[in-house]
Amino acid sequence: MTNWSLRYENVAPRWEGLREALCTLGNGYFATRGAAPESRADGVHYPGTYIAGCFNRLQTVIAGRATENESLVNAPNWLCLTFAAGDGPWLGREGVEVLEDCQDLDLRRGVLTRRRLVGDNLGHRTRITHRRFVHMGSAHLAALEMTITPQWSGRLRIRSELDGTVTNSGVPRYRELASQHLVPVEAGCRAAGSMLLVVETSQSHIRIAEVARTRVFRDGTWLAAEGAAAEQPGRIGREFAIEVAAGQTVVVEKTVAIATSRDRAVSDAGAAAVAWLEGAGSFDELLRQHVLAWEQLWAHFPVELAGAEDDRVLPVLRLHIFHLLQTVGPSSVGLDVGVPARGLHGEAYRGHVFWDELFVLPVLNLRLPEVSRSLLEYRYYRLPAARRAAAEAGHVGALYPWQSGSDGTEQSALVHLNPQSGRWLPDMTYRQRHVGIAVAYNVWQYHQSTGDQDFLARYGAEIILEVARFFASTAAYDRQLDRYVIRGVVGPDEFHTGYPDSPGAGIDNNAYTNMMTTWLLTRATEVLDLLPEPRRTELTQTLGLTATELERWEHISRRMYVPFHGNGIISQFEGYDKLDELDWEDYYARYGNIRRLDRILEAEGDSPNRYQISKQADVLMLFHLLPPGELSTLLHRLGYKWPPERVADTITYYLARTSNGSALSTVVHSWVLARTNREQAFGEFIDALRSDVADIQGGTTAEGIHLAAMAGTIDVLQRCFAGVETHGDILWLDPYWPSRLGMLKLGITYRGHTVTVTIADHTVLVSSGPGNLAPVRVGCHGQTRELRHGQTLEFKL
Ligand code: BGC
Repeated sequence: MTNWSLRYENVAPRWEGLREALCTLGNGYFATRGAAPESRADGVHYPGTYIAGCFNRLQTVIAGRATENESLVNAPNWLCLTFAAGDGPWLGREGVEVLEDCQDLDLRRGVLTRRRLVGDNLGHRTRITHRRFVHMGSAHLAALEMTITPQWSGRLRIRSELDGTVTNSGVPRYRELASQHLVPVEAGCRAAGSMLLVVETSQSHIRIAEVARTRVFRDGTWLAAEGAAAEQPGRIGREFAIEVAAGQTVVVEKTVAIATSRDRAVSDAGAAAVAWLEGAGSFDELLRQHVLAWEQLWAHFPVELAGAEDDRVLPVLRLHIFHLLQTVGPSSVGLDVGVPARGLHGEAYRGHVFWDELFVLPVLNLRLPEVSRSLLEYRYYRLPAARRAAAEAGHVGALYPWQSGSDGTEQSALVHLNPQSGRWLPDMTYRQRHVGIAVAYNVWQYHQSTGDQDFLARYGAEIILEVARFFASTAAYDRQLDRYVIRGVVGPDEFHTGYPDSPGAGIDNNAYTNMMTTWLLTRATEVLDLLPEPRRTELTQTLGLTATELERWEHISRRMYVPFHGNGIISQFEGYDKLDELDWEDYYARYGNIRRLDRILEAEGDSPNRYQISKQADVLMLFHLLPPGELSTLLHRLGYKWPPERVADTITYYLARTSNGSALSTVVHSWVLARTNREQAFGEFIDALRSDVADIQGGTTAEGIHLAAMAGTIDVLQRCFAGVETHGDILWLDPYWPSRLGMLKLGITYRGHTVTVTIADHTVLVSSGPGNLAPVRVGCHGQTRELRHGQTLEFKL
């Protein structure tokens, strides 16, 4: 990586999937992996295109059981563009070799360029350059340009296609599952060199239309050839043949429009795609508008690190911002979509939405709050489904699903494959009820950052109250303990789905779930107080919230049970400390990479349920989400005397037992260590930065980026290291800035003010750009001051 670009030269086939994922181009509406345009799914390449929110369900019989899986659908491949020299073979087929290959992803402009020298078995050598982009300003458009310079003379053949015969086969673990989501509807060539392909998803009946216009230029002159049609079921193409002389330049422009029946203001996806394409200018015109859209978008995300020890930090942070905006950006607003854990970059986790927005929204709240609001509305519109799920589980309120897709019902798989043992096993991770707490926490954070009363009154308060209601209804009073307990759940650590003698039944009193329930119940009453009348009364009436219910919440928030062991270590769950210790040295020695200890142990006929191990930060999530003072206050409220000195011991205890099987883990570890061990915090931060660029999980990035880990690194920089937090109506700054990162300049938007935070030499400068809004309050080390437009405040650290 250099400053603004990710560059690859002559990538070995085994890294191709990783490169494709990291070179994905998208705009929040759709994204396409950085696969070579002539490639097809062949075990090395995987040209996937994913349209946000476009899900479909298929049934498969696995291990004698019918299972249904909902997947983000791989849409028709629009890239397909290739050529052949004379009677030689097509590029991408046997007989053509890539002799030189260099690729460059330009993060500032969102353009992927690939330069190659290729040679065929008839001795033709040809230089080709591809440039492509997925339009950031006009979400339905994308364009691909291929420049061909033959070192031979003769007939040049060009083939441009739209391929709807693709399947969802990007993840080897899912290969036994049904994967054919698309049913062909219409394919045909149209006037002016264009062609149309319409397909429909088999169960959700979403129509997807793609229309492409291919134009061929020789030495800058457009050869107004229509091209001959080539059609197969579900696939449409055009072929051109022209005479070329050595050294001449042929440019092929392929412009594509995509529309679906899910889009707003669309009655016929095909007609909509055609209309989008008809309005599209040339490659260069589209590129200009696209680059402008990116320039404007980057202006919301300024970050500079001057004099950082490691000059790779900033480019990787930019790569993370880039992929964040390609997954959930301005074009996502109003699409009724959530935050897909693996971006729109691959098929891992089938495009599902987990709790990962917990790591994503804080970054958007302070830059593109309208995007956050839209992502939270996705949850609001799925409240009815969450209410039904709660009722089915014998509770009240809203139970959000651990894995969410199209309609908010639980989409966790019934069984999953352990590739290490080859066995299909029941998947009990759906017991992660804590996802609802993340949704509520996000609503609260969004409100703190934006002060958006309208959102809180219309949507947010209802979400928080209904989730609070659910957790209160799962809390049972234990007479012996004289406390409330929550039994049978799974915490963020997915390794423990039950006790050794009752696997899959969940564990009791997960400290994270119980503590965050306490947090939630105190917030819920605060939210009610924040609502203006008559909304407060209306909502209370509509939800049937009674004084008795609120009193019970209050009581639970004072008497929730939190397990401890040893000298004040918060136990991950009741009985965690009674489990066996794992011989980590032995497992490292035998396996090397032991991040997925669950798979290793199962393959050995053992179970992670038996050990004091964790896949990822669980208890430590508390230190991540709750500022130190708030955690102590909550424990105090519960009547626990917990000296803050126990923080460091608790961190040490869990760090030694966590395998980091989730990319989220290092983000959280970096955060929680920032206050106790800066060196170690910095090391974890660097690991988190390497998650995807270096594919440290060993092959998972090829199946999709880890969006929350990417966004999480920006959040660590912003809320943890720079200490930018929003509470009440104050923008707080409480930096723990690692000097190894040099000087920071970070831009955010706070309550309409364009705020720049500069941290250097024990000084924080906060300035607000021009504008005409009321001043905002800024606080540092307990001292608060007013910040007006055009003003700069200085705080000494
Ligand atoms: C992690 C979850 C996460 C999911 C999707 C899993 O490996 O354990 O915490 O939500 O990946 O990113």
